[in-house]
Amino acid sequence: MAAVAPFSTTGFDSAYKSLRSSCASGRTKDLAWRKWQLKQMYWLLDEYESELQQAMFKDLHRHAFESLAYDLAETKGAILEAINNLESWAKGEAPPHGGILWNWIGRAWIRKEPFGLVLIIGAWNYPIGTLLTVAVSAIAAGNAVVLKPSEMTSHTEALLVKLVARYMDPEAIAIVSAGPAEMGTLLKHRFDFIFYTGSSRVGRIIATAAAAHVTPTALELGGQAPAIVTKHANIDLAAKRIANAKLINLGQLCVNVNHVFAEAEIYDELNDRLRHWMAKFVDEGRETLSHLINHQHFDRLRGLLDKSKGTTIYTGEHNRETKWLHPTIVKDVTMSDSVLSEEIFGPILPVVKTDVKSALRTINAMPHPLALYVFSKKQSEIDRILDETRSGGVTVNDIAVHNDVTSAPFGGVGESGYGSYHGKWGFDTFSHNRTVVYMPGFLDRFVGWRYPPFDMKNRGEVDSHKPNFKKGEGLADQRVGKKGWLWFF
Ligand code: NAD
Repeated sequence: MAAVAPFSTTGFDSAYKSLRSSCASGRTKDLAWRKWQLKQMYWLLDEYESELQQAMFKDLHRHAFESLAYDLAETKGAILEAINNLESWAKGEAPPHGGILWNWIGRAWIRKEPFGLVLIIGAWNYPIGTLLTVAVSAIAAGNAVVLKPSEMTSHTEALLVKLVARYMDPEAIAIVSAGPAEMGTLLKHRFDFIFYTGSSRVGRIIATAAAAHVTPTALELGGQAPAIVTKHANIDLAAKRIANAKLINLGQLCVNVNHVFAEAEIYDELNDRLRHWMAKFVDEGRETLSHLINHQHFDRLRGLLDKSKGTTIYTGEHNRETKWLHPTIVKDVTMSDSVLSEEIFGPILPVVKTDVKSALRTINAMPHPLALYVFSKKQSEIDRILDETRSGGVTVNDIAVHNDVTSAPFGGVGESGYGSYHGKWGFDTFSHNRTVVYMPGFLDRFVGWRYPPFDMKNRGEVDSHKPNFKKGEGLADQRVGKKGWLWFF
């Protein structure tokens, strides 16, 4: 049983049993199985590229190129990276022996082992990427998988249900169609790991349900990612890249810039250039841009705009019927404005006039975002912003590009989530690091001190640690360190 759609409790129970017995048989641990499944997923995406693009067009009115670039090609790249590196990722590693007897005589080794049966819950904004790119890591690590696509992208969900059943091993990879009502039943089952992408609100529900089984989780959430544009930035380039980012998937991108903090010296110039680039991109690309996912999101965003006290410097005609919210730039926005009351997740761009110091204070008073953006050509200024803030990732002088570094970890911190994926980082997220030591019998000739009766004269056997620092050294360093004035206190 590979697909459970429409969801039924008995249908899922029977799929769950079959997946559990595949796990127990060790089927998914075999490297040949993992590669076969990754290749099958590649062909699924390759052979059904056009159908998947059409499904995403129906769901999000998204252009085929955008679906290729941000959903399909990303997952295909992840598959090839996993296939090419699988042996080296899976072989495990030796810990540094550090002079400890059994670390080296005992041939200590860290095995990379799959958790078992994992549940992957995807979001609607990137219905392939948030589901299948994550699944690449899970399969590469040797797990059996239950895939749960978002029900909100219903055309893509229906096609995926059909294709996963057709291409993937039905004994070990299942796809389940479930909305919030069915999720309660699904989450009553014990999974060995749950990887969730979506809102913080639902992330909390998932983590709470997982805790009942002591199931580890990774949560890929969102947040209000800020961009700081300083007076040392290339203003035109910053405006071009920020305006473009607000149009990707019509702003429905987890690493999108939520709002801009701009220094007073460049505030008017930045707003002029933002208006210029936004108008140009929308005028020329209108027919190729995505629409909002549904009327509920349209109404939410209209509501935020209607209540805003900021000054709109660029907008156009909105159309509820087609779910087209015309991209809108609002300046002279304060942090208490409606448009900053929640993650926007749409094509509204608020621009706040400030300076770097106040922007940092504001950012640090808010939950840590998934992403942070700095536009500046001054390294000391960039360093200061990096040192004094926290976020899942950072791109300097552009938006969202850190997500494209496929061999680096992608994930949040604090309220933007925990756990990461992409490349080996994803493989490690779905692996248990199992330490194994082999203790040879002859060692007993040298370790008699560990058997009773205990004797303090053997203390040197267990505590031969010698510090390479003197008492009080750390404190002295702090007093006479870079901040020399502290010496006076
Ligand atoms: P969502 O939380 O509404 O839905 C995500 C998934 O959770 C869906 O599969 C849905 O079926 C399921 N779900 C919904 N209600 C549920 C419930 N009550 N119990 C159990 N499961 C439930 O999120 P969304 O609206 O699809 O996505 C938008 C949010 O996701 C934004 O905050 C965005 O920033 C974030 N996001 C994060 C990433 C990332 O990689 N960090 C990627 C995409 C989206």
